Amino acid sequence: MTSAPTRPDGGAPGQAEAAPSGAELRRERRSAFEGRKLEKRLVRLTGQAVSDYGMIGPGDRVMVCLSGGKDSYALLDMLRVLRARAPLPFELVAVNLDQKQPGFPEHVLPDYLREQGVPFHIETQDTHSIVRRLIPEGKTTCSLCSRLRRGVLYRVAGELGATKIALGHHRDDILGTFFLNLFYGGRIKAMPPKLVSDDGRNVVIRPLAYIPEDDLARYAQVKRFPIIPCNLCGSQENLKRKQIKQMIAEWERRFPGRTENSFHALAHVTPSHLLDRSLFDFPGLRPSGIPTDDGDIAFDEEPVPDAPSPPGRSCADGRDDSDARSRPQLVAGPQSWDSSPAVAATTAPARPGPLPAEPPRIAPVSVRSPQPGE
Ligand code: SF4
Repeated sequence: MTSAPTRPDGGAPGQAEAAPSGAELRRERRSAFEGRKLEKRLVRLTGQAVSDYGMIGPGDRVMVCLSGGKDSYALLDMLRVLRARAPLPFELVAVNLDQKQPGFPEHVLPDYLREQGVPFHIETQDTHSIVRRLIPEGKTTCSLCSRLRRGVLYRVAGELGATKIALGHHRDDILGTFFLNLFYGGRIKAMPPKLVSDDGRNVVIRPLAYIPEDDLARYAQVKRFPIIPCNLCGSQENLKRKQIKQMIAEWERRFPGRTENSFHALAHVTPSHLLDRSLFDFPGLRPSGIPTDDGDIAFDEEPVPDAPSPPGRSCADGRDDSDARSRPQLVAGPQSWDSSPAVAATTAPARPGPLPAEPPRIAPVSVRSPQPGE
């Protein structure tokens, strides 16, 4: 017996597809509008971080590490938009390390990158077997796994002639690392937006440093990225990191704005009010004899200042900006990374001159590994 074909929308066979109702159309339009607004904000925050920390310079070849998770897809998207608008030429090459995790869908990323027209390279290294062989069952595998991955990616960066390695860590990764170091490591230390790698040969950048994870999750939904699950190796998320994440989420629920204020603090450090003698010359401190309005108060209780607003939020993107009174003006560097009028209005000084519609490219890259059957 053959069954009657069913319609993809689940309607009865032979029945005409119903046209979307007015309410559905309005909902779709609204969601498309929200998606565009979100993308605009993410591009602006990425451009701001890139500019603030001098992450990309003219002629750079940026290797974008693509894991198949939401953050790395967004990273690639953001850098592609910035590249098209940037006042200076740079190149992108996406790189995925196939670690031979069981069940890793190896066609997903090449298909996606081909469709997007992005030059890419897939590096295959069975680090999964090495980790399984060396780490006893039940022990945490992440530390060895990430060490091996790091080594491979540094080598690949050299082989591809990449001058920068871009990673998809976001604001909440940075803040989580800060609290991990504070609570468990006894150090004031977070995750830098830009650093020289431990082998001294690579510059690593984190262009999503200003972006909250929730925004990246929403963006991934809007863009329908073909996400590859991150638990294929069977390892559990680090328990301490998980607890920190829960703590930050709980704080944010009870005290909205606390996450952004904590993040803001990482860029506004007062060494003279901490206890690190390597950062401030306490023994050499002498009275200057000159009173200052904003001088320190030794005997009174320190007043709690108004909470500053996080970087990059403004009325221009439709978000609530009611707490922006005390926010220091965020200024783009001499090279502004976003050409949208909304950004130009909120970042000063303006870029030096008109931008070319499409910046000149460096050499065309063709770094894709030959695929089986090609
Ligand atoms: S979760 Fe799995 S793939 Fe990721 S670092 Fe840990 S062991 Fe490696």
